[in-house]
Amino acid sequence: MNILLFGPPGAGKGTQSALLVEKNGFAHISTGDILRSAIKNQTALGLKAKEVIDKGELVSDEIVIGLVDEAITNLKNKSFILDGFPRTVIQSERLDEMLTKMDKKIDKSIFLDVETDFLIKRLSGRRVCKSCGASFHIEANPTQSEGVCDKCGGETYQRADDEADSIAKRLDVYEKSTAPLKDYYQAQGSLVKISGLGSMDEVYGRINEVLKA
Ligand code: AMP
Repeated sequence: MNILLFGPPGAGKGTQSALLVEKNGFAHISTGDILRSAIKNQTALGLKAKEVIDKGELVSDEIVIGLVDEAITNLKNKSFILDGFPRTVIQSERLDEMLTKMDKKIDKSIFLDVETDFLIKRLSGRRVCKSCGASFHIEANPTQSEGVCDKCGGETYQRADDEADSIAKRLDVYEKSTAPLKDYYQAQGSLVKISGLGSMDEVYGRINEVLKA
């Protein structure tokens, strides 16, 4: 089974993907993670993408479509979660074409629904580990020692795109470019909407029910 997790920035896609990888054995394809790793390694792609990402805008469809094509091809037949891709209707259409050629499909398109006020609180308080990528929150899930990752001892930081101006831009871009995917997947019959509010485990429980259904 292959699934797509989508929703506004801060809905919890990355957190839930990590749980689904750990507990259900999915492979995880996150275009945001691939791009951040390219930035960290200062590759040509990373240098090109950094400015766009820091401003809260979208990287071009062509670039992310190429990244996802390569990632799915490398997985061979393992079940996967797509996290943060697609983010535009063009990306959804190209994904469908790509999967049809590979004789694969998305079984469930899970939309994580969270109200804007909560999103802003989650994003502005988020801190991420530079080394292992683990995610914390200054109020809801703080590290035991400030600035130090509980999982690996690495340094935690605030993503440039989690600063106030970029958050506003990302929410705006989400409404214009990504929210229309709900209609796209509704029309295809794969859309499942679930609430992204509550604890990590509560949301994971809801997703698991969807997977079992
Ligand atoms: P994320 O970690 O999913 O929030 O992604 C961080 C940033 O990477 C986004 O704000 C975009 O600038 C860029 N990005 C990630 N996925 C995509 C995508 N599918 N299309 C365009 N840009 C993307």
